[in-house]
Amino acid sequence: MSAETLEFKAELKQLLHLITHSLYSDREIFLRELISNASDAINKVRFDALANADKLEGNTDWKIKLTPDATAKTLTLSDNGIGMSRQDVIDNLGTVAQSGTKAFLEAAKRAGKTGETPGLIGQFGVGFYSAFMVADKVTVVTRAAGSPADGTRWESDGQGSYTLEACEKPTRGTDVVLHLKDDTQDYLDTWRLRQLVRKFSDFLEHPVVMDVEKEVEEGKKETTEETLNSRKAIWLRGKSEVKPEEYEEFYKSLAHDTEAPADVIHYAAEGKTEFKVLCFVPARKPFGFDYEEPVAGLRLYVQRVLIMDRCEQVLPVYLRFVKGVVDSADLPLNVSRELLQQNPLLDVIQKSVVKNVLESLAGTKNIEPDKYLDFYKSFGTVLKEGLTRDWSNREKIADLLLFESANTEAGKFTTFAEYAEKMPTDQTEIAYLIGESAEQLRHSPYLEAFRAKGQDVLLLTDPIDEFAIPQLGEYKGKKLVAADRGEAAGVGEVPAGDKERFAALLTVLKEKVPDVADVRLTNRLTESAACLVAEAHGVSAHMERLMERMGR
Ligand code: ADP
Ligand code: MG
Repeated sequence: MSAETLEFKAELKQLLHLITHSLYSDREIFLRELISNASDAINKVRFDALANADKLEGNTDWKIKLTPDATAKTLTLSDNGIGMSRQDVIDNLGTVAQSGTKAFLEAAKRAGKTGETPGLIGQFGVGFYSAFMVADKVTVVTRAAGSPADGTRWESDGQGSYTLEACEKPTRGTDVVLHLKDDTQDYLDTWRLRQLVRKFSDFLEHPVVMDVEKEVEEGKKETTEETLNSRKAIWLRGKSEVKPEEYEEFYKSLAHDTEAPADVIHYAAEGKTEFKVLCFVPARKPFGFDYEEPVAGLRLYVQRVLIMDRCEQVLPVYLRFVKGVVDSADLPLNVSRELLQQNPLLDVIQKSVVKNVLESLAGTKNIEPDKYLDFYKSFGTVLKEGLTRDWSNREKIADLLLFESANTEAGKFTTFAEYAEKMPTDQTEIAYLIGESAEQLRHSPYLEAFRAKGQDVLLLTDPIDEFAIPQLGEYKGKKLVAADRGEAAGVGEVPAGDKERFAALLTVLKEKVPDVADVRLTNRLTESAACLVAEAHGVSAHMERLMERMGR
């Protein structure tokens, strides 16, 4: 018996319900979806006009217009894009999950025109139905480029059926009229619309406009067409095509900063996956940076449209001071155009961003040390978190660190590399001493033995040093050792004769100060009579002080 082949059936009403009620996490994205469709429509007619200029109909003032009508309780989106024929409407709006945009790209590919195809946003064929999240009825009036007599009017309540009729539509393109629900009337508010356009569609190539009434003089109002989006996706341009003022302006609006950024990191990654990155290092620590919950992330755009405000996967927490955007057309989005979690491409982007940020910081450090010092004072502590969190980059991070040392003048700094370079030939380890202030540490008896041998000691005063530096463990094969611990570098053996001579004294001292674990002879000191030393694996003195302060 041969098996019978049957087609799946879809309960359409149910499916539409799913799309409008469960697909998107936020209903305000309807505006993103409809504006994106309008933008695609404009790009399509521009593309078709390359082969057939008649389609332009002398109308190339590309724009997407929002018209809120408080009386009718409607919000209309109009475009002068490619429009739709009656059959297009049936195929694209009357068929769930049919993307005319995807079909358009495939047709262009078949015609061998891939190189010239415009960047289009649509691909899943469901975005349009997001209109039903905010509207209980949607009317579409459209007419295709090049056929002035064939207007079509489509109307539906999103419940499983629609009506279709011929109509007048003098101008090319599409009007989507949303009959807003009672609880979505705020989308008639011009401020709200402005805010949403800026949020999702600010960098769209085409202007999104709205008529606004302004009082020009006492009692005299005038209507002007306002462009709501800035349209400047400067990250898509080449570095040499962007002016410093443009970077500055973009950064200020992105980071809500009033000052220009300290560093701009702008590049396009090419190869297997392509993406563009534009990042900034702020000149100053933002207000609240130390007290607020640490959050990192870059804004993620796909084809100029905002997908995620803060994509944490592309920026590690220890670089959370970096602000910026990443744009990749290659990112596979899920059907609600939210980002798929744990995509390997995100890791590729993160690696690249980290590499470029660290290289840029290294460049600043070498070329503009004063500027780097300002940066380091603001964000050095945060950067050090990377020593323990980003094992693969710990050497690069270590090279970005600045330290005061026993030999630096007050307010001047040295680095691991400089320290290593100046080490006497018999010194094999890098010594450091942790404490409250460099000033105080400079007077520490622990430094005496090192000084006597011509060795420098790094003075660490940042609370995170206590954890981060021991975890780092070594720098280019040179062990990092605490100068106040066990048998540190710089301390040699005590001659056997001395041990015998002072044995009785040590016994007495041990009885007098029973709180210490041991009393030992040392040649650690050259001027002071005695000092306290932590056991090699014990808690350090600085740590003990911190713990005492916390009441332990
Ligand atoms: P997608 O944009 O992912 O293709 P949508 O559900 O948003 O899916 O839209 C479905 C299709 O309807 C589009 O692919 C396009 O062919 C057509 N369409 C939607 N809006 C417009 C418009 N403003 N102008 C022309 N065609 C449109
Ligand atoms: Mg769409």
